[in-house]
Amino acid sequence: ESAWASVQAAPADKILGLTVLYNNDTNPSKINLGVGAYRDNDGKPWILPSVKAAEQVLAQTETNKEYVPIVGSPKFNELIKKMLYSHDEAGKKLLEDGRVLTAQGISGTGSLRVLGEFVRTFYPKSKKVLVPNPTWANHVAILEKAGLTTGKYSYYDYKTNALDEAGLLNDLASAEPGTVVLLHACCHNPTGVDPELEQWDKILDVVSQKQLLPILDMAYQGFRSGSPIDDLAILFKFNKAVVDGKISNFLLSQSFAKNMGLYGERVGSLSLITAGPEETARVKSQLEKVIRPLYSSPPSHGSKLVEIILSDDAIYQQWLKDVRVMSDRLVEMRKLLHDKLKNTYKNPLNWDHLLNQKGMFCYTGLKEDQVKRLIEKSVYLTSDGRISIAGIYPANVDNLAKAIHEVTT
Ligand code: PMP
Repeated sequence: ESAWASVQAAPADKILGLTVLYNNDTNPSKINLGVGAYRDNDGKPWILPSVKAAEQVLAQTETNKEYVPIVGSPKFNELIKKMLYSHDEAGKKLLEDGRVLTAQGISGTGSLRVLGEFVRTFYPKSKKVLVPNPTWANHVAILEKAGLTTGKYSYYDYKTNALDEAGLLNDLASAEPGTVVLLHACCHNPTGVDPELEQWDKILDVVSQKQLLPILDMAYQGFRSGSPIDDLAILFKFNKAVVDGKISNFLLSQSFAKNMGLYGERVGSLSLITAGPEETARVKSQLEKVIRPLYSSPPSHGSKLVEIILSDDAIYQQWLKDVRVMSDRLVEMRKLLHDKLKNTYKNPLNWDHLLNQKGMFCYTGLKEDQVKRLIEKSVYLTSDGRISIAGIYPANVDNLAKAIHEVTT
């Protein structure tokens, strides 16, 4: 008998299952709004011109394919620290004081997993992480596989399609002191709803009062405002909170999957704020002990591209333009769909949230039975009503609006 005879089939992955249905659909005007990956105005994947340029430089200059250190190359980590912590006074102070420890991770997922493992092993106050309700489907699995338990805090108000500020603040205020709390830095997945800056101040007040340990997950840096630097506004608040002594630490995971389009290259980073250089060295030595048995050292191709993009001024400027192109296109598609729904089809529902929500996703408010009917019309989206704006382009928006109109009236 096979060793695996008793293995039961796992339930199908929500999003991958949708892709299978989409691929099997023979309707030529089928629409895929499931995947969270950027598509251009023709509905095609896009390699960023800055990445193409970096590939060319790398092809000319690469001298080896050696292993990189366990925590990634020193050059990569220095450039990441500069990208994240050199644009505000508090960030600069943290860098100067040797309080930032950065390591390369395997994109956002791998970085979060390493942070989870580190917290579970070394954080003495709690083994529990609160995540927003709803959150990215993988968050709970990543953190629980890292040995932590998870709970939820209120986040989204289904009646107003906006942030449930009172619920959020109340749930954080009711948490056990010291609890870990995961926060989406910007472009919350799946809702597209972020706290405004003054709401972040209130969140930070509660985090400070309850001594919560924040983990910021930043997978869409640049997609909120169109600028990766402007999107650091909330990180600046956390930096300042540390410098002002309101909170003592926070953790950050960051991904280049979306903002450099390096999805399959698996490149990102994790950062921890420490008390100072001596603690940074101790923590780094233990971080190496966490990473080594997981995957020895991170992949180097994507991180070499990131090094080139962040250090070559012309390519860096191109990258900023590329992010702007992606972000502008998503905003355009939001407007186009809104215009079709309201002006062409005269849909009676309020679609303002389509315009107000940020980033790659819109939480439409469509109910499960409406989603089912959309899928019957060859429009594919997850059962929670989330649509990936990246899947909309000028040639399919009319069909999409018509289908949404039909299932909502
Ligand atoms: N966090 C959030 C909120 C995400 O949406 C994603 C991507 N879907 C990630 C992290 C990590 O993705 P990756 O591992 O591809 O960087």
